[in-house]
Amino acid sequence: MNGLIKLLVLDLDGTVWDHLDASSLKPPYRRISNDIVVDSNSVRVSLRRGARWFLEKIHSIVPLAVCSWNQWDKAYELLRAFGLDKYFGYLGIEPHPNKHLVFKKIIQWYQRVFKEEIEAEEILYVDDRRVHLDDIYKYIGRVKFMQMGVDVKDFYELYDVLKRELSLE
Ligand SMILES: [Mg+2]
Repeated sequence: MNGLIKLLVLDLDGTVWDHLDASSLKPPYRRISNDIVVDSNSVRVSLRRGARWFLEKIHSIVPLAVCSWNQWDKAYELLRAFGLDKYFGYLGIEPHPNKHLVFKKIIQWYQRVFKEEIEAEEILYVDDRRVHLDDIYKYIGRVKFMQMGVDVKDFYELYDVLKRELSLE
């Protein structure tokens, strides 16, 4: 990767937490430790290693947005149960697989709030799956992409990547 990153877009299922379908969970959620939440059927959801540390560290440096294929209430309430919703400037949680449409809204949000244009190349998108990439490349452009669990194994490694890109300590 080369060049400035002005926006970080994160998937949720399988990326921020280990559960692969938050929409199948049954709120209310209960937090049983710093990084573990259970739903009303005692299904456990754990944050990926370093997620909380990373979001706390990076949110004041790079704007963060969520891009997640989920029912809004299920995923939003889970973010809230973990206490992580506060780190994101935009929560793109929609119940369909067309992430490029959510990306359009994320970019509109960015331009409205920061009053500047953003190019696809200035966005780093992190997802545990590559399935949405073709549409995103086609309709949004060549965002930078890192596959969670493949290109980086956790948020400590993702931080190292960003550290190089953004010349952080
Ligand atoms: Mg995912």
